[in-house]
Amino acid sequence: MQSSQSNETNASLAEVQIDLRSDTVTRPTAEMYASMRSAPLGDDGLEGDPTVQRLEATTANILGKEAGLFFPTCTMANLVAAISQAGRNEQVLIEANAHMFTSERGSATFSGLFYEPIAGEDGAMDIDLLTDAVVYNRNKLKTALICMETSHNNAGGTVLPLEHMRTVFELGQGQGVRVHLDGARLFNAAVALDVEPSEISKHADSVSVCLSKGLSAPAGAILVASGETIKSAKALRKMLGGTQRQVGILAAAGLEGILNMGARLIHDHTNARRLSEALNDGRTGLKASRPQTNIVQVDVSGSGRTSFQWRSELETAGLWVRPWGVNLLRCVTHRHISEADIDLAVDIFKKLA
Ligand SMILES: *Cc1c(COP(=O)(O)O)cnc(C)c1O
Repeated sequence: MQSSQSNETNASLAEVQIDLRSDTVTRPTAEMYASMRSAPLGDDGLEGDPTVQRLEATTANILGKEAGLFFPTCTMANLVAAISQAGRNEQVLIEANAHMFTSERGSATFSGLFYEPIAGEDGAMDIDLLTDAVVYNRNKLKTALICMETSHNNAGGTVLPLEHMRTVFELGQGQGVRVHLDGARLFNAAVALDVEPSEISKHADSVSVCLSKGLSAPAGAILVASGETIKSAKALRKMLGGTQRQVGILAAAGLEGILNMGARLIHDHTNARRLSEALNDGRTGLKASRPQTNIVQVDVSGSGRTSFQWRSELETAGLWVRPWGVNLLRCVTHRHISEADIDLAVDIFKKLA
């Protein structure tokens, strides 16, 4: 429960406070604070910050790439991955519900990239449609980049099958098209598939990872790729104002997240399944998705109330969730949510149903 963990001021406002809005609410661990306090620092825009460099090299090594680059956000890491591998008036093919399409493609207004959405299922692009777009390419713009996402945020935390990723990467390689993976929650996907993270990242040229979600760092993201791509990414990051100074303070927390916070994500997945199963017991009138990772989408369309009405009623009862469109609520499990919190959340749902 967040109230007991960290948020003293809000604790007095409501007795129960279960925050399922996002895994971004996770606070730094004690080990992160300790490592932030003692991290060696430098100026990342001058001689370099040693802790940032360690985080970049460590992440690149774990994900099997030549080099890494630290970013303030995963949004900026994705943008720089795109503009370092695709030029103005070139085409980016991307699953139609991917975060880089639904939430981030506004950057096309200044990047000059042309985003073409490819319909998919559970976050996986339809391979025939993708092949059609790459090979026959109706609009005749040069296709420079294909983007995937795993685990897939808008598809309810679904994990791309490795076979699908391999097919997409081979298609790209066969046509001279780079492949970027938005792996904001790549460690959730690795835990769900029970594979090393590099078994996922090997199916893309560049991979971004968000440090501030389930991994619990306060901020930051990493992009990994070839040394050549990272060199150009570094120049573009500077242009966007993403070069920071003694940012080893943040990198220290991120390093702790990358090294030690991946394995525990399995508990979040178990709790998500517990929530889904309890809501699907047939008596609530609600329909919960069967989560592969830490995101549960609850369909409230059978209840006669919108997701927005549900959100405010749940919030009054101490349970925080987010509407995902008019019919869906999004519930995300994370480090501050215990099994007991899930049971309490289920009680609140049932009372209001
Ligand atoms: C959260 C998220 C991002 C953006 O990360 P920020 O660090 O918040 O900018 C990108 N892609 C996916 C899939 C995400 O879930």
